[in-house]
Amino acid sequence: MHPISPLEQALHAARALVLADLVAGRVAEADVVSLVEDSVEERRWWVEQWPDGAAFVAGLVAQDVQDALLDRYGRWPLCPVCATGDPHALDVEPELGPDPHWVCHQAGVRVAALGSLGAAGTAPAS
Ligand SMILES: [Zn+2]
Repeated sequence: MHPISPLEQALHAARALVLADLVAGRVAEADVVSLVEDSVEERRWWVEQWPDGAAFVAGLVAQDVQDALLDRYGRWPLCPVCATGDPHALDVEPELGPDPHWVCHQAGVRVAALGSLGAAGTAPAS
């Protein structure tokens, strides 16, 4: 039996949190899921070099996936808070830190913890 290392736990949690938010935004297509896998693999290398960064992995994976989706799909996740103005994406805060959450900079509000967009109950109807 191999105990699961904290590093593997962090990567597994990051994957689960980002996938949960993709499902909440109804963009968890097969090719999108593979973007998450790609990011987790890249961050595996990164966190092996810097184990103290394990708590930051989830926020980094979320940002990787945001960037990758912007090319293929568009903005994600769309802000569910602002009813007016141009559609805009939420941002991850902190960019490099523990306990990442989604914020809307236009409204200046914290929308949901990473992995909890679905529970925020404010998914756009489009
Ligand atoms: Zn907003």
